[in-house]
Amino acid sequence: MGAISGMRECMNEGTGKWVSIIVAVGLIAVAGFGIYRYATHSEAESVIAEGHKMWIVCEACGHSERARLPLDQQFPMDCPKCGEPKAVGGQKCVRCEEVFARPPASVYQCPKCKAEYRAFRSGAGGDPEP
Ligand SMILES: [Zn+2]
Ligand SMILES: [Zn+2]
Repeated sequence: MGAISGMRECMNEGTGKWVSIIVAVGLIAVAGFGIYRYATHSEAESVIAEGHKMWIVCEACGHSERARLPLDQQFPMDCPKCGEPKAVGGQKCVRCEEVFARPPASVYQCPKCKAEYRAFRSGAGGDPEP
């Protein structure tokens, strides 16, 4: 019995050590997670600050360009070329490279080569390609 109680003491000591190691590792993990959260958060903030690049097409003069716009940009916006408030979000056709005004429909075609596009719905993961 003496040997068993001795072992038990050893195990208790060991458990105490393990608890402190687990607590230490847990604290490091929490700190690391906090840094990770901070890093991704600041990255998202920089995207909001810098905006994102997208095609715009002016329905008044036909001008199209790839512009850096804030994420909350409202359309139509003022055309950078003619100044008319007729510039809308556009898309460059991957097949014929035509830049066209993107309709609000979930399925739309390139006006030039009739390539079909499906708008990605946020959260749903997008529709499967035909
Ligand atoms: Zn214009
Ligand atoms: Zn096309």
